[in-house]
Amino acid sequence: MRKIQMVDLVSQMSPIREQIEKSFSNILDSAAFINGPEVHAFQKELEDYLGVKHVIPCANGTDALQIAMMGLGLKPGDEVITADFTFAATVEVIGLLQLTPVLVDVDSVTFNIDIEAVEKAITPRTKAIVPVHLFGMAANMDAVMALAKKHDLFVVEDNAQGIGADYTSADGTVTKTGAIGHVGATSFFPSKNLGCYGDGGAIFTNDDDLAHTLRGMVNHGMYVRYHHDVIGVNSRLDSLQAAVLRAKLPHLDTYNQKRREAAAKYTAALSGNAKIVTPSAHNGLDVYSGNHHVFHQYTLRVLGTDRDALVKHLQENDIPCGVYYPIPLHAQKAYVDERYNEADFTVTNQLVKEVISLPMHTELDDEQIGFITQTILDFVGK
Ligand SMILES: *Cc1c(COP(=O)(O)O)cnc(C)c1O
Repeated sequence: MRKIQMVDLVSQMSPIREQIEKSFSNILDSAAFINGPEVHAFQKELEDYLGVKHVIPCANGTDALQIAMMGLGLKPGDEVITADFTFAATVEVIGLLQLTPVLVDVDSVTFNIDIEAVEKAITPRTKAIVPVHLFGMAANMDAVMALAKKHDLFVVEDNAQGIGADYTSADGTVTKTGAIGHVGATSFFPSKNLGCYGDGGAIFTNDDDLAHTLRGMVNHGMYVRYHHDVIGVNSRLDSLQAAVLRAKLPHLDTYNQKRREAAAKYTAALSGNAKIVTPSAHNGLDVYSGNHHVFHQYTLRVLGTDRDALVKHLQENDIPCGVYYPIPLHAQKAYVDERYNEADFTVTNQLVKEVISLPMHTELDDEQIGFITQTILDFVGK
């Protein structure tokens, strides 16, 4: 059996390696390292793929979130609602901009922001909601957008884990995640579903004025060279990373399909066990045929089982796994706040003890999946 890896970027690279090396060689010859033609071409190709009017490339996903919030003109003290169960980048940028993060609980089935909790958290100071399409599953965007409309709020989608996922609204409209809210942010960190070979990120919007604002903000607030109209940042996607992304973008749907197929095999092997909850979709939609989930992570909940002992058991069998995420954000030292009440975070507090993410990438084979699932079943028993 091939060695099992959490993410296998080397195998994924082999069919596109020659193409990437050729692009790298051209870039070295041209020395157009920053804002070169590769970056511009990638921007256009991603706009087409997502069906969004504007893509603004930037240096990483955290910057993308920060610049998106800067572009919306949010002011210190404005409240921004986001999920308690996610990667810290989301709440980090809210804090850095001196906005007030308001963390809310998530749904136990989708792991995504709980709509009732969002509604309860809205105050006259609330200015934005940041849904995270966690693990590659679209958040309930119909409900988020309806709440935003009712209360006149911005929606900033954290699409770092969801690129390529489709969201089907109740009226049947299908939209790519990240292109639904006022603005979307994504990351091209190597292990993301569309990853480059270093850091990278992008902001998406259909709003022409906002796109203009954001394009200057990523470049020191310059709209005309050496005229600084607003305080911006320096956040660029470089040409070498754009070349990698251009080679991979045409394969993104296939990559996501391979992840879904691996997920379906995990689920087929594990779903019959009473101590294991396999990931599923919201709104009663089928995860696999509904094309909703792009499985950035395949995350189980284990019930009545020592999750940390299972992690150890898998590691002893040379099976890597992850715990995303072991601590709720409201309990992280950097983000504690006396306004929070533990009773408002019952789902997140439970999930952090139960979740375990299995190896998930585009190169998993049946033998590996069989070994992983059997090793789990041997440990949890009936
Ligand atoms: C990866 C990730 C980010 C940050 O992206 P970077 O490119 O690493 O800065 C933000 N939010 C979520 C949910 C992520 O998974």
